[in-house]
Amino acid sequence: MFKALKARFIQGYRTGKFPTHAPPVLPDRFRGLPRISPEKCSGSCGAPCGDVCPSGALFLENGKPVLDLGRCIFCGKCAKACGDGVVEFTDSYRMGAMKRETLLLRGQDFPLEVQENPDVKRLFGNSLKIRQVSTGGCGACELDFNVLNTLAWDMGRFGIQVVASPRHADCLLVTGPVTEHMLLALEKTYAAVPKPSLVIACGACAISGGIYASHPETRGGLEGILPVDLYVPGCPPHPATLLEAMLRLMGRK
Ligand code: SF4
Repeated sequence: MFKALKARFIQGYRTGKFPTHAPPVLPDRFRGLPRISPEKCSGSCGAPCGDVCPSGALFLENGKPVLDLGRCIFCGKCAKACGDGVVEFTDSYRMGAMKRETLLLRGQDFPLEVQENPDVKRLFGNSLKIRQVSTGGCGACELDFNVLNTLAWDMGRFGIQVVASPRHADCLLVTGPVTEHMLLALEKTYAAVPKPSLVIACGACAISGGIYASHPETRGGLEGILPVDLYVPGCPPHPATLLEAMLRLMGRK
């Protein structure tokens, strides 16, 4: 015990100040919220940006580019392919959305939606117990969600905790494109969560299927399977993106 107290004395308080007192420290290579500039797009270049996109996230609609954040894996190929600078990546990590259509970027400002349901704020504003379900994910979203449990991020200080049983959970956090093998397990897990409950689609796969969307062994994400309350884009989402979005879902921001 004295060893532990001594270590604490020497090391001090190690939990970061994000999000209450400081922005997160992000690496230079971090690709955040894309910015689309439709006015720069002539539409006559043959759309190489759409051709290089591995997930079909970038497409033309009435001759103008649309970027679906829910499908984007943030590879950056479109920005390199477009000589007119139609797609740029900002360093903004705030990308969570409560409506699917919010993720369709057409050049508008990205709205940071706030929780408007008073019942959600009352029930989950100070305590959110999460059961995580990996429906065929590669492990990246799961790993970066685990990061929020480390002392550097300590999501427990906001009342967010991971629980082992869906019967103890308020919320399902789903990763992966929903494979046929995991569909029944997902549905049973959701049925076991006491209602009312919340569902978070974490990462491009859970939102839309990501790069596996067209694979016959996947359902292409949660659409049409579970009602989603929060979409968190990324491949995987940065821990700061996920935590900031969860706090807005709880009505804490
Ligand atoms: S960054 Fe997103 S939109 Fe651009 S090519 Fe990659 S997946 Fe497609």
